[in-house]
Amino acid sequence: MFSTIVADKEAEFERDMIQGMPNHRGESGPVVIQSDRLRMLLERLISFEKYILYQDYATQKEPEFTYNPGIVPILISAPHGAAHTRHGNYKGEDEYTASFAQVISESTGAHCIFSRRKSKTDPNVAKDAPYKEKVRQICTKNEIKFVIDLHGMRSIHEVGIELGTRNGKSCPDQKELILQSLGDSGFTADNDDKLLRTRIDAHFSGLGSHTREPMVKFVSERLQIPAVQIEINACNRIVERKNDAAEKDKSFRGNPALIEQTINAFICITNALHQSFQV
Ligand SMILES: [Zn+2]
Repeated sequence: MFSTIVADKEAEFERDMIQGMPNHRGESGPVVIQSDRLRMLLERLISFEKYILYQDYATQKEPEFTYNPGIVPILISAPHGAAHTRHGNYKGEDEYTASFAQVISESTGAHCIFSRRKSKTDPNVAKDAPYKEKVRQICTKNEIKFVIDLHGMRSIHEVGIELGTRNGKSCPDQKELILQSLGDSGFTADNDDKLLRTRIDAHFSGLGSHTREPMVKFVSERLQIPAVQIEINACNRIVERKNDAAEKDKSFRGNPALIEQTINAFICITNALHQSFQV
């Protein structure tokens, strides 16, 4: 649906236009969106995110998470799409990760699962989370060959994207391909622009502990399917903050062209992984 070519002149132009904005927040007025393609993507993300109620518990009619079947043996997961509870403590949502999962799966044919209501547990790290049981069922029924687990990190982080690979153990055969796809999409370890910079297993390695079993550990160890955890900077992901967000600064906005570049990088990764499984 969306082009995976990110290095074209139009995208560069959009980026330059928007980089003039202070701190990617749009304080100096409405962001000028230069292309219909970008506008469509942002509207799609906003329309998906509208249906994620961060602070509302599930009801009989409104389930805690949703699974959208795909046709490609890759699963995109966003367990922190809404607020959740870890060891009795409230934790805010990873805004727009549920919408990212849906847009990526629409573009690639991958399966996707995402949290859409607040959880009384932590769907990512709780060992007995119903979300994980659903992931197990999806993986078994569809012979899933790879799981991409999306998360959000704050804008203060000095990178746009961090991969959690459990020190390389969660996806030893795919790590280089993922880094290659990120590089092809403009994301590199030594990029001068911090939001186009990547790092691996630094702050979010997915190692877990005896009380925390992150999705990337659950999938790669218990299900024996390779997986990667991807943390996305708020600037690379939040189109416009919703009123029910846990974060106080409701005026925060990410950079539109950067959001598109980030989505395209994930589409590129998913397509490259799919291709590698067909050889
Ligand atoms: Zn998270």
